[in-house]
Amino acid sequence: MNKLKILAIEDEVKIANLTKKVLEKENYHVDLAHNGKDGLKMALENGYDLILLDVMIPEINGIDVCKILRNKQNQTPIIMLTARDTIEDRLSAMDAGANDYISKPFAFDDLIMRIKALFGSSINSEEEHLAEINKRVMDNVPVSIITIDKEGNVTSANKYYKNLTKKEDFTKTNVLSGEFFIREKLVADYRKLLTDGTPVKKDRCYEKNTEGKRKYLKILAVPLFDKNGLIDGAVSMAQDNTESVLFKRKLQKLNESLEKKIAGRTVQLDNANKELAKMLKWKSMFMADISHEMRTSLAIIQGNAELVSRGLVEGNEKDEAHEQVFGEIKRMSTMLSDLTLISSEEASMHKLNYEKIDVNQFIATLCKSLSVMAHEKKVEMIHENSDSDLEIVADPKQLEKMLMNLLKNAIKYNKKNGKVWVWSQEKENEIVFNVKDSGIGIALENIPHIFERFYRVDKARTRDDGSSGLGLAICKWVARTHGGKIDVSSQLGEGSLFTVSLPKKQKTKKQKMLDI
Ligand code: ADP
Repeated sequence: MNKLKILAIEDEVKIANLTKKVLEKENYHVDLAHNGKDGLKMALENGYDLILLDVMIPEINGIDVCKILRNKQNQTPIIMLTARDTIEDRLSAMDAGANDYISKPFAFDDLIMRIKALFGSSINSEEEHLAEINKRVMDNVPVSIITIDKEGNVTSANKYYKNLTKKEDFTKTNVLSGEFFIREKLVADYRKLLTDGTPVKKDRCYEKNTEGKRKYLKILAVPLFDKNGLIDGAVSMAQDNTESVLFKRKLQKLNESLEKKIAGRTVQLDNANKELAKMLKWKSMFMADISHEMRTSLAIIQGNAELVSRGLVEGNEKDEAHEQVFGEIKRMSTMLSDLTLISSEEASMHKLNYEKIDVNQFIATLCKSLSVMAHEKKVEMIHENSDSDLEIVADPKQLEKMLMNLLKNAIKYNKKNGKVWVWSQEKENEIVFNVKDSGIGIALENIPHIFERFYRVDKARTRDDGSSGLGLAICKWVARTHGGKIDVSSQLGEGSLFTVSLPKKQKTKKQKMLDI
């Protein structure tokens, strides 16, 4: 379609230039004249499609220019422009033969609309007009649209196609060439479309534009038919879905990592729950054991107290009853102090206070503090110093409690004029503590149970000396919290050997929850 030629006769240079600029943007060709005389000459000589004619112009005014043109049988459409807007002005403009009239200041949109109204039907054919509208619609939709002929050649493309593909020139491109789409599969689809009219529909088609940027396209291509209903080509539309595809992917990844985290946490929670359930079970069993022990002691105290108060026992029997009462009271108080220790140990389980300990010196001090008890029981204590200076990192309070229990038992369960040996040695990364006695020993069948709380081999004997029944359970707990272990070997009637192996150094201060 040829460009419309417009002559603007306007003496105000700035307005004239502005008018030219705006109209040229609208694809019109614009010439300027700045007075009536020049304008008239140009209009007669060059033959324009439209004249924009200012009324107040030098040399010959606009009304006269218009009259002269009409007198010379020139029928070029004229739009009069004037700063005055009176009915007389309009009438005289129309009288002179102008087609339209617009008063200054005017909006260029208004001027363009009037030009289009004037030429819409007279200059463009109906078909051209429609084609123009189609082109505008095609260029403004946010979808890349191309038309292709029967052979797959691209015959037209809208602006969006050029933006998307970064290809300025669509000629010489063919959708069946194998280079048009990265996916070979689509070539087959398009061939089918052009052969039997099957539409191409793809929701997520991966492509790269000429700049190498990856794109995800939603593609729809349908056939075009000629007048006889035969396939004449196709129209293919592609919508850029890249952002939403990438966003969905990110979301999916996020979901997956969240699910993994949740699964991990669930396992942790499950383990914590199991640990808790174990602790609760242990607590209730522990309470039942304590309650049983306390009740037994109370029953003995109550029974003996009744005997004495009712006057049922006299002399030696009365003394024995008193002794039993005091024995049980002593036992209960030992048990209470052991229980206090356990509960405070439990509370401070996560903060054992490790210190570097000189092993020989440590054992020597314990032996000294037990010398009175050993003397009373007529047992000799022998501390065999190790050759080298041994050191261990441990909680001194716990270590003392453990060794004291072992040494006390070695004295308690000994024979008259018996012996207790205590010594330590280094084995790889461990310090091994040994407590040996020449006492009564432990029968094989009892050995697996002696580290259980409140387990006693000889119930009557241990009640008498006020033992709590928790001693070895505490020893085992201390050994384990330090990352070590306790073992026993014994011969009934010969004596026992308790060995405790503890790591020389503690790796971490955090302790695992362990039952006593
Ligand atoms: P108790 O307070 O009764 O001594 P322990 O837990 O210290 O409790 O010991 C549990 C049981 O193991 C004791 O009742 C005793 O029968 C047995 N036992 C512990 N140490 C020795 C030992 N050195 N020789 C013989 N038997 C022992």
